Amino acid sequence: MQRPYNFSAGPATMPAAVLQRAADEMLDWPFPDGRRSGMGVMEMSHRSEAFGLILEQALADLRELLAIPEHFRILFMQGGALAENAIVPLNLSRGEAAGFVVTGSWSQKSLAEAGKYCQAQLVATCDGYTGIPDPAGWHIDGRNRYLHICSNETIHGVEFHTLPDLAALGCDIPLVIDFSSHVLSRPIDWSRVGLAFGGAQKNIGPAGLTLVVVREDLLGQALPACPSAFNYEIVAKNNSMYNTPPTYAIYMAGLIFQWIKARGGVAAMEAQNIAKAELLYHFIDQSAFYRNDVDPAVRSRMNVPFFLADESRNAAFLEGARERGLLQLKGHKSVGGMRASIYNAMPLAGVQALVDYLRDFEAEQA
Ligand SMILES: *Cc1c(COP(=O)(O)O)cnc(C)c1O
Repeated sequence: MQRPYNFSAGPATMPAAVLQRAADEMLDWPFPDGRRSGMGVMEMSHRSEAFGLILEQALADLRELLAIPEHFRILFMQGGALAENAIVPLNLSRGEAAGFVVTGSWSQKSLAEAGKYCQAQLVATCDGYTGIPDPAGWHIDGRNRYLHICSNETIHGVEFHTLPDLAALGCDIPLVIDFSSHVLSRPIDWSRVGLAFGGAQKNIGPAGLTLVVVREDLLGQALPACPSAFNYEIVAKNNSMYNTPPTYAIYMAGLIFQWIKARGGVAAMEAQNIAKAELLYHFIDQSAFYRNDVDPAVRSRMNVPFFLADESRNAAFLEGARERGLLQLKGHKSVGGMRASIYNAMPLAGVQALVDYLRDFEAEQA
């Protein structure tokens, strides 16, 4: 069966092979050694031998895929990335000040939420959210407990292609990154990161799982009011089992990790993501009918917002796309226009089908 191509920003498309495997194992999950568990993953105790194996394999595969050093802890949490906008300051700010670089809607939300728990200071921003101000010009206060960035702005399509080196900028405070929408699409330089967080539903798996990767020395500073289930030190001590973790979402994430490993790991994902993004941006740039407004140096490889020159054609464009099996291309309501999210699970053939449609639709209008 040829499934339509789904360009949703999230929850987003998943590899058909992964969905099929989950379907095969839905009623009776098999142990790696061939024993039958006699139950589906949703029905297992999180303390069972079977789920313990699923959790440990997922943690090990993620650590390997992203080359996460030993002095970082991987936490599987709940609440989504928006909950982390509160959980991070509850854990790291000590009620003092933290800095925020605002490059789009998501970092803007992070700044606003953190203000409930600490002095949230705007360090740098860019009008219209179409670029990233040069880090050399950021006004970072060395007393800030951490500096927050959104390393890929899902709505505005702005991506940090290199993470800022705060030590080199003379301000060695922990860098916090919201990597929800590009985690596992490219390698990460952990020497520049204190904490990374993201919801799973963009580039990993189903909604309900939140990934946190935190440097060990940042544990143990939570404010007294921090809920225990959101206290990184408590979650880490309990190996993400202080309370019931999102077991099925962890299982699905684990299947995705294995799928990425089988396809050559994160470096192979990155090469494919570069090819997909270049194909789409190149077509948009050579056309007078479509437009992307983001500074080419910081365009996202994952989320490509674009506009039709004649916006009165938007509804016809979306209807024609749907008829060709190209789904969920409507832009975020705050930006308008169109957006194609082309995460790991979107094959090059899907982007090629989109480019073919863009060309044909443009020709019809002439
Ligand atoms: C989707 C998204 C969020 C919000 O995630 P929720 O799981 O809905 O809380 C936050 N940040 C970024 C970068 C996102 O893409």
